[in-house]
Amino acid sequence: MTSNHPVRVRMAPSPTGYFHLGGARTALFNWLYARHTGGKFILRIEDTDQTRYVPESLQDTIDSLRWLGLDYDEGPEIGGDYGPYFQSQRLPLYHQWSEWLIREGHAYRCYCSEERLDALRKEQAARKEDALGYDRHCRFLTTRERAEMEATGARAVVRFAMPLEGQTAFVDILRKMKPWENSQVRDPILIKSDGFPTYHFANVVDDHFMAITHILRGDEWLSSVPLHVNLYRAFGWEMPVYAHVPLILDPSGVGKLSKRKKRTEGNEDLLTFVREYRDAGYLPEAMFNFLAVMGWAYSPDTDLFSREQAVAKFDIVDINPAAGALPMSKLDWMNGHYIRQLSPADLGERLLPFLAEDLGWPVAALAADPALPLLVPLIQERLKTLADAGELVDFAFVAEISYDPQMLVAKGLTAAQSLAALETAHRLLSGLPFTVEVLEPALRDLAVELSLKPGQLFGILRVATTGKNVAPPLFGSLVALGRERTLARCTQAEQLLRQLEAGS
Ligand code: GLU
Repeated sequence: MTSNHPVRVRMAPSPTGYFHLGGARTALFNWLYARHTGGKFILRIEDTDQTRYVPESLQDTIDSLRWLGLDYDEGPEIGGDYGPYFQSQRLPLYHQWSEWLIREGHAYRCYCSEERLDALRKEQAARKEDALGYDRHCRFLTTRERAEMEATGARAVVRFAMPLEGQTAFVDILRKMKPWENSQVRDPILIKSDGFPTYHFANVVDDHFMAITHILRGDEWLSSVPLHVNLYRAFGWEMPVYAHVPLILDPSGVGKLSKRKKRTEGNEDLLTFVREYRDAGYLPEAMFNFLAVMGWAYSPDTDLFSREQAVAKFDIVDINPAAGALPMSKLDWMNGHYIRQLSPADLGERLLPFLAEDLGWPVAALAADPALPLLVPLIQERLKTLADAGELVDFAFVAEISYDPQMLVAKGLTAAQSLAALETAHRLLSGLPFTVEVLEPALRDLAVELSLKPGQLFGILRVATTGKNVAPPLFGSLVALGRERTLARCTQAEQLLRQLEAGS
């Protein structure tokens, strides 16, 4: 089942919380299909549920889509020919078409009070009825009863008059669907008593008037399709193509805004919100690739592909409707790959906000520090996320380092021997130009001269200058630190070793 019109697909989030990973994956598939076909990708904000509205979520959605590089062709902030793109600004359209349905006998006003509906629900529960729902009381009011209700000024909702019998079949291009019994769908509300449309009604009306050709969305909406299909039929509108993709995250809890979560090593559970991935130091390139392989395969040989490659090859029918979530370790691996692909200058730029936060420095000051471009190439290979950089390079940006003096004592040596080695290295370093080409052979020769293993000498120097056992390659680190700070830190370490010796 395909459409003959130019492809128009949409992402239609409800602004009820931060933009989550499942939404991002749905947006990605829609975007890929639009770009693959030369069609349009539309962002529509489904803000008709006033009770669940969370103001920050709109900006978060826009920021998340931009960060992932999923540019939309029509929508908030940019407009387009089919606007407005906020449902709350389209109320007259919904009223016009709900009135049309009433006139045509496909919808009716229902005056039932909350109390009546509550009592009905309790009664049905007591009788253990299968299909719970509205009993269609107001559907069969006489003209006179209706006029009387109107005269009381009772608040009304508009309900859809579902066919009472028969079945509704519908096609999803990704899966086989069993037909639904129409009697199971109990005349859902189209317009609420506050005058706002329900999701189902606004969604169908907008998909039609925005000329949406393909609906690619999470499979939590599958059970709504029988109603949607009947709405299209009642209107006599052409139906879009449906493709429901499996959830990768349970959407429950998506409404609540969680604080930034630190990822714990070894925890394979996915983070919930796109912003959490950005804050945890994942690259948008890696996220794009990671989201795409959750349900789609570029090739049987590789999971790594560029945005352009995905656009060239993507088709909805290739989505695997059974695929679920992947573990975080897969994303870490992809992220490391994309980090290694960056030029050091680009990586440095991207590291700035992370390092600035870790160090408590202004970004501009960090950007101007000559140590940064020297250190970035040294750590590029080792980073899984941008957030990993801080603990590797902070030694070059802090005035003082602190560490356990015991760490200065090399394996197999005493404190006195370690001190002697450090003093000799210190003397040598004070007379050398600080380049890797000079320092490396000089210190290697010194190790031989002192009958030390290189690891012993380099270990002492590493701790003395960085305060760490694990740090970026030593010679590059010394160059980034510069002669003055390197020598000062040697002096400090020698004092610590002397104290150790005196104490032992
Ligand atoms: N507003 C719905 C949501 O938040 C849109 C579902 C659809 O794409 O039809 O997921």
